[in-house]
Amino acid sequence: MVGGGLAGLSAARELGREFVLLEAEDRLGGLCRTEQVGGFSFDWTGHWLHARDPEMRELIARKWLAGNLLEVQRRALIYSEGVWTRFPYQFNLHGLPAQTIADCIIGFVRAAKEGELGNAADYILRHLGRGFAEHFMFPYNEKLYTVNCEELSPEWGGRFIPRPSLEEVVRGALGLAGEGAGYNATFWYPKSGGIEALAVGLAAEVRGLPGEVRTGARVTALDLAARRLRLSSGEELPWDRLVLTAPLPAVARLLVDVPVAVREAADKLRAVSVTVVEIGAEDAGGERFHWAYFPEKRFPFYRIGSPSEVNPALAPSGCRSFAVEFAHRGAVDPALSIEQALRGLEECKLIDRRRLRLQRARTIPVAYVLFDHEHAKARAVVLAHLASFGVEVAGRYGRWEYSSMEDALLTGREAARNLS
Ligand SMILES: Cc1cc2nc3c(=O)[nH]c(=O)nc-3n(C[C@H](O)[C@H](O)[C@H](O)COP(=O)(O)OP(=O)(O)OC[C@H]3O[C@@H](n4cnc5c(N)ncnc54)[C@H](O)[C@@H]3O)c2cc1C
Repeated sequence: MVGGGLAGLSAARELGREFVLLEAEDRLGGLCRTEQVGGFSFDWTGHWLHARDPEMRELIARKWLAGNLLEVQRRALIYSEGVWTRFPYQFNLHGLPAQTIADCIIGFVRAAKEGELGNAADYILRHLGRGFAEHFMFPYNEKLYTVNCEELSPEWGGRFIPRPSLEEVVRGALGLAGEGAGYNATFWYPKSGGIEALAVGLAAEVRGLPGEVRTGARVTALDLAARRLRLSSGEELPWDRLVLTAPLPAVARLLVDVPVAVREAADKLRAVSVTVVEIGAEDAGGERFHWAYFPEKRFPFYRIGSPSEVNPALAPSGCRSFAVEFAHRGAVDPALSIEQALRGLEECKLIDRRRLRLQRARTIPVAYVLFDHEHAKARAVVLAHLASFGVEVAGRYGRWEYSSMEDALLTGREAARNLS
């Protein structure tokens, strides 16, 4: 197994024995990680747990996080045109300016029901109409993916975008929306230890198995034909069966004797980075939410999470915490991001600058796979090459897709089953 995030750990667990798990970092869990500083705990960034698969639900609730789970009713908001409304936008127009509501309803009714779906913009216009597109979906997605919606393939959002009926749109506009539209109306979160408690619970089980777990073991070369890999220490290891969970383009760069077509395909796979500004502050009042979306261009960040609202144990008593997320490609200046985050929080009346406890920025270099028009074809070429050597991939970055922690666990399990 290459990678000790949730996908790699889940694959190791499923194999049960005679595995070697190689993790580059000195800690297992990958992105399922929590940092503690000055009484605040921050995940990389807010990680809310949804599980549908019965076996995973059982393992999470009765084993890895037994006795350590909160079930949380989502409070997700949107801030635009100076008002807070409920998420998802298309189900909750109530409170927005009358003109915006009219644009959205008229656009929804007039949306063309037929025609080719060539890109994400077409998909949004078809399913939600021009008003929803222009007031929320276009600016939000363009901020998150850093490209315009015409450059995204129609598969970019898939199951994560809830589609309302006309009745739901109208009821939402009148303030009569039902509770809980969308895939994540309730979620789980650990009572203590932040989201890393999940990885810790799973890793404890894996470490108890008759296999080998090695941290600080970065794979630097992969020879598929010879079935050998090299570590940064120079050590070489043979392998019989292999599961890869490291990011697909990075995997392609590790390959020895890779065909030109595979290398060229891998070079076309693009990702978006996320810089998150973590803010700890004395509670200054203001709107309460677990996370809120910011579609408008005037805010350079796309979302603000509030970990302490999900679980007050994540901040000292009397304090609130915020995680302000910026999507980008290329480098950003962390000091500028911090200043922009503070300005945004002040404008939304969520902090008092004189009562800050913590402010810092961290960057996740590979955060969101960019579903542009090259994605599907280029990904298929690289995956087919790996599959031709019997190599399995798993997890969000190994499979180069948009997916959740549960998906990482499930695809790790599936990869191990495919090897058996
Ligand atoms: C901003 C953001 C917010 C998210 N929020 C949520 C959420 O709310 N809910 C949810 O369910 N999911 C969320 N996710 C998704 C979730 O983080 C992932 O689906 C999941 O953690 C992926 O696990 P993984 O094992 O596939 O990958 P990773 O966690 O990336 O693990 C891969 C591991 O491979 C290691 N590795 C890489 N290269 C090498 C190498 N050469 N040699 C050895 N080891 C290597 C890495 O160090 C890493 O530990 C979010 C993701 C992001 C970016």
